[in-house]
Amino acid sequence: MLSQEKLIFEKSRKGRVGVSLPRCDVPGDPSTLLPESFRRSEAPSLPEVSEVDVVRHFTNLSQLNFGVDEGFYPLGSCTMKYNPKLNENAARLCGFSNIHPLQAEKTVQGALKLMYDLSTMLCEITGMAGMTLQPAAGAHGELTGVFLIKAYHRKNGDEGKRTKIIVPDSAHGTNPATASVAGYDVVEVASNDRGNVDIEALKAVVGEDTAGIMLTNPNTLGLFEKDILEIAEIVHGAGGLLYYDGANANAILGKIRPGDMGFDVLHLNLHKTFSTPHGGGGPGSGPVGVSQRLLPFLPTPVVVEKGDGYSLDFDLSDSIGKVRSFYGNFGVLVRAYAYIMSMGAEGLLLASENAVLNANYIMKKLEGEFDIPFSDVPCKHEFVISGEKQHDENGVSTLDMAKRLIDHGVHPPTIYFPLIVHEAMMVEPTETEGKETLDRFVDAMIEIAKEAKEKPEIFHDAPYTTVVSRLDETRAARKPVLRWTEDKG
Ligand SMILES: *Cc1c(COP(=O)(O)O)cnc(C)c1O
Repeated sequence: MLSQEKLIFEKSRKGRVGVSLPRCDVPGDPSTLLPESFRRSEAPSLPEVSEVDVVRHFTNLSQLNFGVDEGFYPLGSCTMKYNPKLNENAARLCGFSNIHPLQAEKTVQGALKLMYDLSTMLCEITGMAGMTLQPAAGAHGELTGVFLIKAYHRKNGDEGKRTKIIVPDSAHGTNPATASVAGYDVVEVASNDRGNVDIEALKAVVGEDTAGIMLTNPNTLGLFEKDILEIAEIVHGAGGLLYYDGANANAILGKIRPGDMGFDVLHLNLHKTFSTPHGGGGPGSGPVGVSQRLLPFLPTPVVVEKGDGYSLDFDLSDSIGKVRSFYGNFGVLVRAYAYIMSMGAEGLLLASENAVLNANYIMKKLEGEFDIPFSDVPCKHEFVISGEKQHDENGVSTLDMAKRLIDHGVHPPTIYFPLIVHEAMMVEPTETEGKETLDRFVDAMIEIAKEAKEKPEIFHDAPYTTVVSRLDETRAARKPVLRWTEDKG
């Protein structure tokens, strides 16, 4: 229950103070010690509050937030898993957090070794030949990757002719956006009735003008593209390159490697799969891995082994240049390194197996109450519910159900995405949840399906347990009010 105290934001009372400053011991009249031009004519407009008011204010604000340390957060495609605090400790070690990017190489050998070893491990995990750690997020990795594809075609004298990037309709929304920002025409291929890329439709659009294909795998339906080798053959056969959106590598660690499937370039989201709290906008990291033929195009600098130490190599023959200041979001790299080292190869494999098991467990438990397209085949790390039945029969939309879940203490899943499922609700439980949490979520969803039938009217004002109910989310994101302003009223 929210106490009244939490709801009153304005706490300032004229004349109230939280500190007592020592008496001024400078001789003379303090009010005339400073020249006139430096002196205020009015007191600053600051909140006038006692210490306990301040402590309670910020503590209460922190409790209005919802985070993965607090409850279940099945936000599909985002992999909002628990991040071990050990990785936070590693990122805060002063040898990592107190160094400067312009320091001499010999004074930052530990940081360089960490980047070198992390690249090597990520290459091993993905089967790629080289890796850049510069991109600051997944979408930034995509842009880097597509620039690499472009540079490759340019080198071959093919840039003017290869103007199209193929993107399946089950891809993550950033894929077509990236291709378009990089100057390509986006050609969409439809999914077949099994939720996979339609091979015949693909063959029909591949040709001499194909620069490449961007494939999200598992796709946004949570399904593994089972014809992936054939897709690779078709696109390579036409001289195009293959881009693997590996943001959701959580589903495949230790199972398959994009490099082995013939992919030329991929990105990972360290802030999803490899620890680092995210949400609220950052910081992230989207390393990009490449096959042998794209190695000369990587952004510089790359960390290389030299003598008995490490150094930065700025001299790659066909580098696309820098994509980020300095070396990327270094703190995120440290967390990923600590995560991989503490998990080990077996731990990573087990994480993926449990992520997939948890998703399938929930999917099977819910298929009686909700329409779940493709639930006859196992999903990977996530699956998509359609709220169409509740929408059409009870007038309760997916948005309504998502809001109602908040009353059950659950962060809503991703909604209305992917676009190819009506009233979509994309559920990704992640591997870090225990069976009791999964069962509580299942119970909440079943309760919600029941409420939709029996008392649909309660949905319209849900959630009831939060300070604010239905926000204008777009405005809240675009015009956030982040500063205290004096209440003149
Ligand atoms: C999250 C995600 C992205 C984008 O990553 P950002 O770090 O948010 O830019 C791209 N593709 C897929 C499949 C994703 O899940």
